[in-house]
Amino acid sequence: MTKRSITEAIVRGKRVLGRVDFNVPMRNGAIEDDSRIAAALPTIQWLVKNGARVILCSHLGRPKGKVVDDLRLTPVAQRLAELLGQPVTALRDITGPAVSASVEDLTDSDVVLLENVRFDPREEANDPSLARELADLADLYVNDAFGAAHRAHASTEGVAHSVPAYLGLLMQAEIDALTHLLDAPDRPFVAIVGGAKVSDKIGVLKHLLPLVDSLLIGGGMANTFLRAQGHAVGKSLVEPDLVSVASELMQSAAVREVEIVLPTDVVVAPSIDATAGEVRPTSEVGGDSAIFDIGPESARRYAKVIASARTVFWNGPLGVTENKVFAGGTAAVAEAVARSSAYTVLGGGDSVAAIEQLGLADRIAHISTGGGASLEFLEGKSLPGIAVIPENA
Ligand code: ADP
Ligand code: MG
Repeated sequence: MTKRSITEAIVRGKRVLGRVDFNVPMRNGAIEDDSRIAAALPTIQWLVKNGARVILCSHLGRPKGKVVDDLRLTPVAQRLAELLGQPVTALRDITGPAVSASVEDLTDSDVVLLENVRFDPREEANDPSLARELADLADLYVNDAFGAAHRAHASTEGVAHSVPAYLGLLMQAEIDALTHLLDAPDRPFVAIVGGAKVSDKIGVLKHLLPLVDSLLIGGGMANTFLRAQGHAVGKSLVEPDLVSVASELMQSAAVREVEIVLPTDVVVAPSIDATAGEVRPTSEVGGDSAIFDIGPESARRYAKVIASARTVFWNGPLGVTENKVFAGGTAAVAEAVARSSAYTVLGGGDSVAAIEQLGLADRIAHISTGGGASLEFLEGKSLPGIAVIPENA
């Protein structure tokens, strides 16, 4: 069964409410990275080309139900206008008389952007009254905000109950890429999971384990696995409560003949802001130092496993990439993934930032725009923003 796509709808002259993910990183009022805006362009351009009256809606940051001037969407509307090559009006409200009046004034192919939808406390509460007000602005609704699809909010879920709802092109591309990993991966299928904590990724580790051939583990979460193997990890980030879960995962992998690969050497330092690290075998981490990256021998071994893969999923950096002293493991793995001829999928805010910084993003088959959403999808969970869109007749 496939979900209804916006490209199957007749949109000319219709008011189309498009939920997009314009939650871009901002610094001092400027957009640091506009890739999320760029990712929403195919759907917006399709709507414009087909004569829709386009009303876009997004959140930005965490205003927690209050108006926060620094989180207004005005700079986003400006950047979108540049990328789109046509004016985009930034409205000062989400709903209400002024918004309704602006929407009434729209002509075909016009684009307006509602104010940050999380300024309204009813958004995150999925309050039906906000869903109704949003639905009343439009004839059709399209959800293209994959990054927010795991949240049942008024603009991502509630609204779709009151107006004919469709998937956008980005949403469809994300669903296709992630479904391919779960349903039909070419083998060997290698998953690389890093990042800070086992607790953030435990769902995805459990769900992917029976599906993959090899699971390469790095980042802070590797420490909990190393502890489960009986290694002393000094002052490293460890989750003691999850050592037993790590042991269970390793046992379950052994039974299924899935290879879990852990670092055999690591980069240690006295603190996270150290200006130099020291490479040590995993078995020799001193009591007063901490692990901040996988070592070069481990990176080579991971690269070798990746080179033989035909499907790769990667989430989470292998070390503390914020400090360049600890960015080597992630860079080596990124190189290997970029060089691979496998179908490669990358998700996760920090891992995506790392690969973009390395200039390797265009060598990845699919970069997910949703960190949390892609993890929940790969955990096998139903995402409310997708579930609410009707199946094709
Ligand atoms: P993503 O955003 O790609 O999903 P996460 O948010 O899960 O990744 O993890 C990224 C964070 O993990 C970074 O802030 C990084 O500093 C941290 N991290 C990676 N390796 C370690 C480590 N060895 N010790 C402590 N923190 C780590
Ligand atoms: Mg992160």
